[in-house]
Amino acid sequence: MNRYDIIIIGTGAGGGTIAQALSQTSARILIVERGDFVPQEEENWEPEAVWKHLRYRAREKWLDDRGREFAPYTHYGVGGNTKFWGSVLYRLRREDFQAMEHLDGVSPAWPIDYDTLAPYYDRAERLYHVRGADGDPTEPARAPYPYGAVPHAPEMAAIVEQLRAQGLHPSPLPLGLLRVGEDDGCILCNTCNSFACKLHAKSEADVCCVRPALSRPNVTLWTNSTATRLMTDPSGHRVEAADIIRNGEMVRVHAPLIILSCGAVNSAALLLRSANDKHPTGLANSSGLVGARYMAHLATMMQGFHPLRKNSTVFQKTVAINDFYLRGPKTSYPLGQIQSQGRTHGVMAQTVVPWIPLWAYEAWVSRGVDWLVMSEDLPDASNRVTVDAQDRIQLHYRPNNLAAHRRLVAETKRILRRLGFWIVMTHSHGSTNTTHQCGTLCFGTDPRSSVLDPYCRAHDIENLFVVDASFFPSSAAVNPGLTIAAQALRVADYIRDTEL
Ligand SMILES: Cc1cc2nc3c(=O)[nH]c(=O)nc-3n(C[C@H](O)[C@H](O)[C@H](O)COP(=O)(O)OP(=O)(O)OC[C@H]3O[C@@H](n4cnc5c(N)ncnc54)[C@H](O)[C@@H]3O)c2cc1C
Ligand code: SF4
Repeated sequence: MNRYDIIIIGTGAGGGTIAQALSQTSARILIVERGDFVPQEEENWEPEAVWKHLRYRAREKWLDDRGREFAPYTHYGVGGNTKFWGSVLYRLRREDFQAMEHLDGVSPAWPIDYDTLAPYYDRAERLYHVRGADGDPTEPARAPYPYGAVPHAPEMAAIVEQLRAQGLHPSPLPLGLLRVGEDDGCILCNTCNSFACKLHAKSEADVCCVRPALSRPNVTLWTNSTATRLMTDPSGHRVEAADIIRNGEMVRVHAPLIILSCGAVNSAALLLRSANDKHPTGLANSSGLVGARYMAHLATMMQGFHPLRKNSTVFQKTVAINDFYLRGPKTSYPLGQIQSQGRTHGVMAQTVVPWIPLWAYEAWVSRGVDWLVMSEDLPDASNRVTVDAQDRIQLHYRPNNLAAHRRLVAETKRILRRLGFWIVMTHSHGSTNTTHQCGTLCFGTDPRSSVLDPYCRAHDIENLFVVDASFFPSSAAVNPGLTIAAQALRVADYIRDTEL
């Protein structure tokens, strides 16, 4: 029989991190991953392969709230979405852990506070080689960054000075990059965010966690293996096995401890698919909240364009503006965050309006400076993941807090115009942008209003933990990855102390 001490399903920010942490125990661990390793190949850095042919994207289609198919922006492979992330690795702000009034309602409190997670943020930053520096007005008191900030390229340094002259407080973006400037390290190229790193110099879960875990004799990885169902014992209080389709064949694997980390959408879907007599509406769903409160951030890409100024910056993603994170200009409500982005490639821009020739886009983007504007969306029980009768994932999502986001976009436009850009372009993937999915199995102290407890253990099932982004009770407005990793380290400590 296939039997292990722990089964970890998924290898992204949550699963990869907890696998690395638990690999140092003597537990026999099976890691199950539906995708394969992303090959190191020329296409890693080819905009055509990545943006036109979608070479590394999940092939599956999901349904939107009106039942129309769409291609989710997500990746299945070792490392999960971290393989393609921009590696902007932020801590949540202290206030994000508390209830906060927003234009559209309340962002609820977390069951833990910043100080509880701070030591695990320290560890996660070391594990993911985070580079940063002081200067962010919203940054909580913290230990120094393990590595110094990536310096701004000359044009970005000039922009930072101009932003300061506008009375703003730009700060370095915290970035997870390995061995910058060293022989086998990061070369600060222009194909980082949304691309896999051909040099394996990006801090992501495959390189920083899964591969090191596999060097231990107690860890086994099954790739191309999709968990389709979790089985409980007759009491319904414990999971005892997972059904896995491995290379086309169904295999049942048993373990006294199962850790789910398939990403916020797929973990909820797996629990819903695992309904049985004792859990008729899905495993761990006595609250009715499995799949509910889906969030994904409100995100708009912006580009300041000046026809007479060529932008020679290669690595552009180094600047953050958090002045409006806790309150906006002319409003006491939080608006969100502004970050400089990686350079847009002509092919990426062409996906928006395909009939415009590539040379025109190349000419355009070579004169642009790119930004990402991100705001918090709020949990709403009717924004949820369901699985239909044909076993397809459906995402019912109506974005909220849009007025706050519009204000931030308008303010960013004003800032960019003051920097001298003639035109400011905006683009949003809207409700089909699933890159920052979270919230579908939220953690809390009350089993009636949460699915997981504060250590991410299912309230209803004593030996089931979930460590991907589903545990978020609110989405905050910074990138989620470091918080997922920090909580995974916290849960690993808890499991080691109480279960092993
Ligand atoms: C282009 C892009 C840029 C991003 N940039 C940033 C950034 O700069 N900073 C940041 O913090 N965040 C960023 N993110 C978001 C970040 O990547 C995610 O928040 C994070 O990876 C989520 O971690 P997770 O563990 O919840 O899920 P994932 O990383 O998605 O991992 C889930 C894993 O589970 C596997 N899986 C799914 N279903 C099954 C199944 N049934 N059986 C077996 N395996 C399964 C998947 O293949 C995957 O490996 C970005 C995301 C994208 C796509
Ligand atoms: S070399 Fe550096 S900047 Fe380029 S993809 Fe790799 S980690 Fe990102």
